[in-house]
Amino acid sequence: MDFGFDQRTGELHEAVNDFLIEQVYPAEAVFTAQVEQAENPWTRPPVMEDLKAEARRRGLWNLFLPGSHGAGLTNLQYAPLAELLGHSPHLAPEALNCAAPDTGNMELLAEFGSPEQQARWLSPLLDGTIRSAFCMTEPDVASSDATNIATTIRRDGDSYVIDGRKWWSSGAMDPRCEIFIVMGKTDPSAERHKQQSMILVPRDTPGVTVKRGMTVFGFTDGTHGGHAEISFEGVRVPADNLIAAEGDGFGIAQARLGPGRIHHCMRLIGMAERALELLCGRVASRAAFGKPLSEQGVVRDWIAESRVRIEQARLLVLKTAWLMDTVGNKGAHTEIQAIKIATPSMAEWVIDKSIQAHGAAGVSQDTPLAALWTSARTLRLADGPDEVHRASLARRELRKWSLN
Ligand SMILES: Cc1cc2nc3c(=O)[nH]c(=O)nc-3n(C[C@H](O)[C@H](O)[C@H](O)COP(=O)(O)OP(=O)(O)OC[C@H]3O[C@@H](n4cnc5c(N)ncnc54)[C@H](O)[C@@H]3O)c2cc1C
Repeated sequence: MDFGFDQRTGELHEAVNDFLIEQVYPAEAVFTAQVEQAENPWTRPPVMEDLKAEARRRGLWNLFLPGSHGAGLTNLQYAPLAELLGHSPHLAPEALNCAAPDTGNMELLAEFGSPEQQARWLSPLLDGTIRSAFCMTEPDVASSDATNIATTIRRDGDSYVIDGRKWWSSGAMDPRCEIFIVMGKTDPSAERHKQQSMILVPRDTPGVTVKRGMTVFGFTDGTHGGHAEISFEGVRVPADNLIAAEGDGFGIAQARLGPGRIHHCMRLIGMAERALELLCGRVASRAAFGKPLSEQGVVRDWIAESRVRIEQARLLVLKTAWLMDTVGNKGAHTEIQAIKIATPSMAEWVIDKSIQAHGAAGVSQDTPLAALWTSARTLRLADGPDEVHRASLARRELRKWSLN
């Protein structure tokens, strides 16, 4: 068992780290100032395009995507790079064209899209000239059970007609988000997991209305392109916009979410590392009641516990990446669920301790901690709530005992 980087990963790790230090960290304050000044809080500020151009110039582009469409890295090679991107989760992933939800959507189009769909939508996404949204969750049904999805996709001649209401479509508040991948039902009478399909809906199609941005703990979360509520009323698109075949939607969603979940977990490790770094820096430079905060036993306990929790989570994420590379996403199903349960909670805990060590500054705009905590907390819901993953993991475990 080798815990070191191979040569390519080592070189890329160094290059990504240099990019963070030289370009991304200095851009964080500029980014915040530009977002505050922007007329539309959902647009990406100009500094993002500068970062993208520089990342591309350095060859740091589409690192997430295996195969010929992307950099061709394995999950295990990408994991430490995505972890680095998690140090600045609102800037670095997008700067390298490695940001959710586009990554999942690009993977989906690379794997299931027709050559025409790939030429029309995958190419500009790979180029970073447009963005995309994944529209599954609905306000009117418990969407953690995706079989509840009620949006209809009805065949009518050479078209499909879509009716329904979605929300939490990440990225869709950004005007550059030109394409929506919509999940709905083509055949409500089919077997439970064969009723759903996925279809490509261009943003400017008549009947599509982006109604509002959902706030996250009161924030716009515009740094991610926001999360939109969208209505689809009699939306007509060509039949060729269907992804794969009717009834394939549920299976495609499962295939899309596996890599997406591990990417979140990889970045969460980086978010926890950044929080711990900030914690240590703060307690080393501040004194209360006659001694540095770093000498308080409770603070040392947080630091030690944080290190242990981060290392545990990282090992499990790396093992999961290795399994996905060697036995495939299906074979790594249990581990993907395990990391999706363990990693957001771990990061939430570490970031919380860092906030506490910073005092009031920890909840302010002067550190990235509030935004990091918000991301970690929401990831206990997004891509499946903790409880759903726990229930499913327990079911698989009990199957070994012939129980269900
Ligand atoms: C920041 C953010 C970004 C998101 N981005 C997207 C996106 O881009 N596209 C998209 O389609 N969706 C997105 N979502 C939505 C997210 O995937 C859903 O919120 C999630 O799947 C849960 O669905 P729901 O909100 O309908 O909760 P519900 O299904 O109503 O569930 C509510 C709660 O019930 C409990 N519960 C449910 N099932 C079980 C069970 N089996 N056992 C025990 N308890 C259970 C859980 O505690 C759960 O949190 C995003 C959400 C957030 C917060």
